[in-house]
Amino acid sequence: MNEIRPLQAVEMPLSASLSQVLAEDIFSKEPIPPFDNSAMDGYAVRFAGARGASKDGPVKLKVISDLAAGCSDEFTVSAGQAIRIMTGAPIPSGADTVVKQEDTDMGGDEVAIFFPPKLGDNIRLAGEDIAKGEKVLEAKHLLRPAEIGVLASLGCSKLKVFARPKVQILCTGDELIGIDEAMAPGKIRNSNAYSLSSQVKAAGAEALGFSTVRDDPQATKKAISEGLKSADVLIITGGVSVGDYDFVKEAMETLGAEQKFWKVAQRPGMPLAFWLLGGKPVFGLPGNPVSTMVCFEEYVRPALLKMMGRKHLFRPEAQAILKEDFKKKVARQFFVRVIVRAEDGRHYASLTGPQGSGILKSMTLANGLAVIPAETDFVAAGDPVKVHLTELPEDH
Ligand code: AMP
Ligand code: MG
Repeated sequence: MNEIRPLQAVEMPLSASLSQVLAEDIFSKEPIPPFDNSAMDGYAVRFAGARGASKDGPVKLKVISDLAAGCSDEFTVSAGQAIRIMTGAPIPSGADTVVKQEDTDMGGDEVAIFFPPKLGDNIRLAGEDIAKGEKVLEAKHLLRPAEIGVLASLGCSKLKVFARPKVQILCTGDELIGIDEAMAPGKIRNSNAYSLSSQVKAAGAEALGFSTVRDDPQATKKAISEGLKSADVLIITGGVSVGDYDFVKEAMETLGAEQKFWKVAQRPGMPLAFWLLGGKPVFGLPGNPVSTMVCFEEYVRPALLKMMGRKHLFRPEAQAILKEDFKKKVARQFFVRVIVRAEDGRHYASLTGPQGSGILKSMTLANGLAVIPAETDFVAAGDPVKVHLTELPEDH
């Protein structure tokens, strides 16, 4: 992960910045709210004149005007007077309290107040949410819907955020056909292009598109160079293993890529590879549909989040009680697709069914990946396992 750095800051319209990370501190140029205003529909009054009100001895005030939200304050409330006021309307000069209409006879030319207000009741003061000049958000802050709302209320229509990585996908394999093409002997549909671009989008990065290349050394080399042209990151699927028709590694070598790692003692996804080519990250994911998705989830997604300036790169972890026995060979760490449920404050994990790396259905059922260590060969039903909660936002 040390090889991956946040991208440069770019200016972005507020409306396009959801899930991005701020690259600047934001100071308020205006107070929020901008002026003292009413928190209720009711009557703006002078506290001194309304304090003695009671059901038996209502205070009666002359209603001199009406103020709706959006009106500007041109009126003054004097002794013996009130102004009908709606939520969000500016408090007129002279008034220091708003009596909500439920505490009155609803009023007309005159209003009777039945309950004594407290000084300042139902007034939202200018700057009570955000003062002018206040530091509202710090650089590195993640922009969620609430942050977008706050920035809108401050009139920040543009802001600096870390750029979203542009991700190109390259699918290798003579067997691949498009999802609209007629099925033919020996062919399979290119599902990785779709699952991967969806994972890229779900991570908040920009999916540029995908291309496919047949299993041929020259074509693979050319497709890699093409793919990286306008991308910050290239993800290659298939062809990274040691089969007779796996040409990705060779192509990367002839292109002069710096191999950072190849092969991880894990299942699924053993032949996972990572290079830097011209300073850009290139991931080689094994072609099996589950391997592709799991490797993206565990390795590529954190890298993309780091490029976007995120502080938290990894999904929440839980200790879950495995509901059934699980057997495996010692040697590789397993990522087992599980359904995690919380019951009585404890997490329970059940397997999604067969765990073959081609069984993509297992991913549609799963909301977690149980991590079974390399040295473990058996987990008994009722034993705890570590689970990555893949549906929840990163927390570390
Ligand atoms: P490979 O990693 O190229 O050896 O491919 C491993 C398995 O994944 C083979 O069964 C491939 O047919 C399958 N596969 C490779 N690429 C894709 C793809 N884009 N979509 C679906 N399956 C694929
Ligand atoms: Mg292949």
